[in-house]
Amino acid sequence: MQIQENISLLPHNTFRMDVRARYWAEYGSTDELRDLLQRFADIPKLFIGQGSNLLFTKDYDGIILHSSMARARAVNETRDEVYIEAQSGLVLDQLIEQLCDMNLYGLENLSHIPGETGAAAVQNVGAYGTEAKDAISEVQALDTTTLQPCTLTHADCHFGYRDSVFKHEAAGRYVITSVTFRLSKQAVCHLDYGNLREALPANPTPTDIRNAVIRIRQSKLPEVSQTGSAGSFFKNPVVAQETADTLLSKHPAMPYYKQTDGIKIPAAWLIEQAGCKRLTAGDAGVYEHQPLVIVNRGNATPDNVMRLAQMIQERVEEQFGISLQREVIYI
Ligand SMILES: Cc1cc2nc3c(=O)[nH]c(=O)nc-3n(C[C@H](O)[C@H](O)[C@H](O)COP(=O)(O)OP(=O)(O)OC[C@H]3O[C@@H](n4cnc5c(N)ncnc54)[C@H](O)[C@@H]3O)c2cc1C
Repeated sequence: MQIQENISLLPHNTFRMDVRARYWAEYGSTDELRDLLQRFADIPKLFIGQGSNLLFTKDYDGIILHSSMARARAVNETRDEVYIEAQSGLVLDQLIEQLCDMNLYGLENLSHIPGETGAAAVQNVGAYGTEAKDAISEVQALDTTTLQPCTLTHADCHFGYRDSVFKHEAAGRYVITSVTFRLSKQAVCHLDYGNLREALPANPTPTDIRNAVIRIRQSKLPEVSQTGSAGSFFKNPVVAQETADTLLSKHPAMPYYKQTDGIKIPAAWLIEQAGCKRLTAGDAGVYEHQPLVIVNRGNATPDNVMRLAQMIQERVEEQFGISLQREVIYI
């Protein structure tokens, strides 16, 4: 176990906000995690992965806890499927690379999404027509109220669009220690999203799909190693059919996608149409290849990012009457 005091969070958030935390701790086992929770019972706590979906709005006056448990193992196998339990601190993309090498289908469309396995379940990460929930079988956690390990079934997790029980009813209650995924030995491919299919050979392997996804993502999204960001800043709004009809009568070119719960409108289109593409606040700006992403062009402060986000929300609301909800979590 490693505990540090008054540390810079610059290396621990992909937005590259230069703020500090009172304490930072790495735990390598559930017992160490339990010890930390008991020892620091009276101060605020944040469980963190790679900090790729967060905006630190100020210094953190509490303890930030990070899992260094990063192994994966097969826990069950049937004729058609393999169940892999991956520990929360394992980088999701490393796990996906290993699964693709094993020729297992299920997570390849989520290649190159930053972050760790624990957070992938919290966020129900999604890309190219699939979401983590499609492959998650169950989640193992430590219940902070009882300090006992527990298992949440897929149904217990209440997965939704970039959403799960871990962000609402049970926010702060469970620390995810591992996630069990159900992977297919047979080719079960999801290639109908965007231009994925045309980038692939017939009968693609998981690695073919992974490589194509990575190439497409690299052409559209900033690389965390080069540019500070937290990916999509806003969620794509889902509106009622009547709202969509009214908007379409005014903006016939508006793209939209029918969902079971309403009509999804790409937030990137709304942001671009509202004239936000060139908006800046200090060193915070809108990414030129994808207006849904706010980037740190050097020394952006939390205030710069929050101000820019607010300007975008106000302009979209004014022009379309739609209130954009943040995907990025403010801490
Ligand atoms: C360039 C870029 C591209 C991106 N593209 C996508 C994309 O295509 N699709 C997508 O869905 N997301 C995308 N994201 C967002 C981000 O990668 C995901 O949300 C990812 O799951 C965050 O992982 P993390 O480990 O960095 O989590 P963090 O940002 O550290 O944490 C996210 C949340 O999970 C909680 N948490 C973390 N670990 C645990 C744990 N062990 N137990 C309990 N709670 C925990 C945190 O408290 C926080 O609430 C992108 C981000 C960037 C920077």
